[in-house]
Amino acid sequence: MSDIPPVANNFIRQIVLDDRAADKHGGRVVTRFPPEPNGYLHLGHAKSICLNFGIAREFGGVCHLRFDDTNPAKEDVEYVESIKADVQWLGFEWDVLRHASDYFEVFYRCAEKLIRDGKAFVCDLSAEQVREYRGTLTEAGRNSPWRDRSVEENLDLFRRMRAGEFADGAMTLRAKIDMASGNINLRDPALYRIRKVPHQNTGDAWCIYPMYDYAHSLSDAVEGITHSLCTLEFEDHRPLYDWCVAQVDLLRHPELVQPLLDAGMPAPVSVPRQIEFARGNLDYTVMSKRKLMALVQDGLVSGWDDPRMPTLSGVRRRGFPPAAIRAFWERAGVSKQNSVIEFSVLEGCVREVLDASAPRRFAVLDPVRLTIENLPEDHAELLTFPNHPKNDSFGVREVAFSRQVYIERDDFMEVPPKGFHRLVPGGEVRLRGVGIVKCTDVKKDTSGNVTEVICTLDADTRHGQPGADRKVKGTIHWVSARHAVAAEVRLYDRLFTVVDPDDDGGGKTYRDHLSPGSLRTVTAHLEASLAHVPAESAFQFERLGYFVTDLRDHAAGKPVFNRTATLRDSYAKAAGK
Ligand code: ATP
Ligand code: MG
Repeated sequence: MSDIPPVANNFIRQIVLDDRAADKHGGRVVTRFPPEPNGYLHLGHAKSICLNFGIAREFGGVCHLRFDDTNPAKEDVEYVESIKADVQWLGFEWDVLRHASDYFEVFYRCAEKLIRDGKAFVCDLSAEQVREYRGTLTEAGRNSPWRDRSVEENLDLFRRMRAGEFADGAMTLRAKIDMASGNINLRDPALYRIRKVPHQNTGDAWCIYPMYDYAHSLSDAVEGITHSLCTLEFEDHRPLYDWCVAQVDLLRHPELVQPLLDAGMPAPVSVPRQIEFARGNLDYTVMSKRKLMALVQDGLVSGWDDPRMPTLSGVRRRGFPPAAIRAFWERAGVSKQNSVIEFSVLEGCVREVLDASAPRRFAVLDPVRLTIENLPEDHAELLTFPNHPKNDSFGVREVAFSRQVYIERDDFMEVPPKGFHRLVPGGEVRLRGVGIVKCTDVKKDTSGNVTEVICTLDADTRHGQPGADRKVKGTIHWVSARHAVAAEVRLYDRLFTVVDPDDDGGGKTYRDHLSPGSLRTVTAHLEASLAHVPAESAFQFERLGYFVTDLRDHAAGKPVFNRTATLRDSYAKAAGK
């Protein structure tokens, strides 16, 4: 694909290069993106998607999409479907689609192996007792009184856990590692818990579910993942990840993956390497699924795909092109240093892509009438405009012009500030593609609001006339009043008013920082060519910004546009940058 920028080097790419040079993993590169289907994907996930799919693509490897569906209470097929759609929208296609739940039988066999090897035991401690026994960062934990059960007793109990004989929370299967370890994750962590909840993929087949670290490391090993890329908070879990892979030792115990082979699924087992990188964060944005879920459930936004949401389905509806998101994370780079990137940098990428790809159109968002008194009442003509100023391949279109047009209300000022170069009483301005008009009169309603601006058109400045090049300071856009198409236009702005909405200082939470002005809806007047365009079509409305027809609510004949971005970064301007 031509729109993929050249790959910048980063420490993970370097590890892969070195591994290939050393012929580790037989030169193969297998990565995976492992979302939990408990919400919609957001811009942070896109970083991980671009990295995992990008590395695989660059090195001729493969990338798996794997649903980490080990927590049935929170998961739903709606999320599974949205995640698939979002990954594809972002421009990636998985080579293999799997669910951690595909491996439940394998995980179970691995657990029995650990029990037989004396590496796991069934523990009756309650969750609260487990916490008491765990110790602290400075204090070693204590062994569970159930730690020395015999292999036979453990096997019997574990099988009965599986059979549903015990209540939720009554017991767990725990790894037998080291209660004195400096790494709390190694203090006999739970591997299985009882959870009598139907699962979105396996239904009622299971009532015990594997814990994250166990399921994740073994899923990687089962699938033959070579490089398991995850975010920094898993650094402390790596020893447990490695412990699970090493103790289960799939390479030397192929019988453990037999259930997969029987089901016709390959099991090209590996010893995967976990590598951590810093999460992607954006200012003015919350990115935790839990918080995004609360915004949706409490009706503070219209849904997961509300165009103000940082979800992929939200920014898609907002009109962000996938190429802009890919370019953004490529430029942001990959490191072990946590940082927060300005949202305006992402918007800059969006503008860059849309500047090149969005056809130009005329629209007036806040209209006032302008009448050209020296044109006949029934004047009508078609003017030809290029669809893109820098790219002839976009072609041209015809735009109707008549005696009355709409202009933006703020393109006319009776008492202009210094430096105002648009229309003023007695002043001149160029009507884009028409010629120079001069304001001769202004009409107002009883409260003093301007209702109509009267002008004369200097015929000598029209296209092909000797005065066509005559200079005036300002050029404004317009839409023929008679031909205009009314449209709902949604003007979106930031959802939060503060740089770090996750900062709970001052007794406030992210919910207290929601911006009241993040959505304003206006009825705009569009040039007629916009009356019948498909959903998800992007345009630049000249002088106003980038707009896209709404994915859900737009219909030909009843247009609904969302503002994707203004033409310039108004925040940087306001901040004096
Ligand atoms: P959240 O904290 O938003 O709930 P999560 O990490 O719990 O996210 P998962 O579904 O488990 O969500 O994430 C799938 C993958 O995406 C994981 O490998 C995770 O590390 C990665 N990921 C999640 N958020 C980010 C982020 N902000 N930047 C980079 N990668 C991320
Ligand atoms: Mg998670």
